[in-house]
Amino acid sequence: MLQQVELYSALSKADQNNFFTKLSEVYEKLPKTSCIGCATCCNWGSPPAFFIEYLNLYRYIRDKQKSEWKNIVKKSAEYFYLELVDRNQKCPFLNESNQCSVYEVRPFTCRSYGLLSKEDFETGNRGLHQLAKKIKEEYDLVIPQEIIDYELPWCDKVTSDMGSYLAKSTLAGYAAQIGTLDCYYFSQDLVDQEGTLLPYPIHLANTILGSGARSRKIKVMKQYNEGNRELLDSILDKAFAFQF
Ligand code: SF4
Ligand code: SF4
Repeated sequence: MLQQVELYSALSKADQNNFFTKLSEVYEKLPKTSCIGCATCCNWGSPPAFFIEYLNLYRYIRDKQKSEWKNIVKKSAEYFYLELVDRNQKCPFLNESNQCSVYEVRPFTCRSYGLLSKEDFETGNRGLHQLAKKIKEEYDLVIPQEIIDYELPWCDKVTSDMGSYLAKSTLAGYAAQIGTLDCYYFSQDLVDQEGTLLPYPIHLANTILGSGARSRKIKVMKQYNEGNRELLDSILDKAFAFQF
């Protein structure tokens, strides 16, 4: 787990080595897209981002959306703790107008959504069946079936200036180039196993909620199911104290 102090040195390392420029160069290889903006893809779950993309988002919020920080921490921490028990958890960057508040630095996963043909699109199933079974057996906590079964649908409303779908291997190659930047922070094995490709709220919890964040998860979920937010709210109070 990456601690707070390491976040700053990670950002500094990225600045010194032009990692954010390199990240932008990969993004620029993708075709320009447009869609009808229904936000279906932003409304359930938070898309995974590489660690370097998390740093890029963190930096963007620090420099351009500082007034939004408390709101983002709240939404992210709630997502981190409640994603398995509350169907209404969504990407923390989806604003009240159903638009992306970090569009210019949105992660690769969002940029590439809709660029694969239906045949090549891999289901967004999060593989929760096993996890839900384990949580029920060990903690007597029931994960709603609706959450377990959800799969991100393929979208046919995206048009690109390339005029056709991308090959799966091309997209995987671009993703691997971003993964290469994560290798400056983590082992190649971890990056290859997609261990650094996590939803933004999970990255944030790893860096600002402290080492006990994960161990409190079950208790927070149980309390929430009983209509009690006491522990969650006390965690949020501490998280709000985090300074850039
Ligand atoms: S990519 Fe598809 S699902 Fe996502 S906002 Fe655009 S039209 Fe909606
Ligand atoms: S980062 Fe933006 S585009 Fe991506 S899921 Fe969130 S709101 Fe949607």
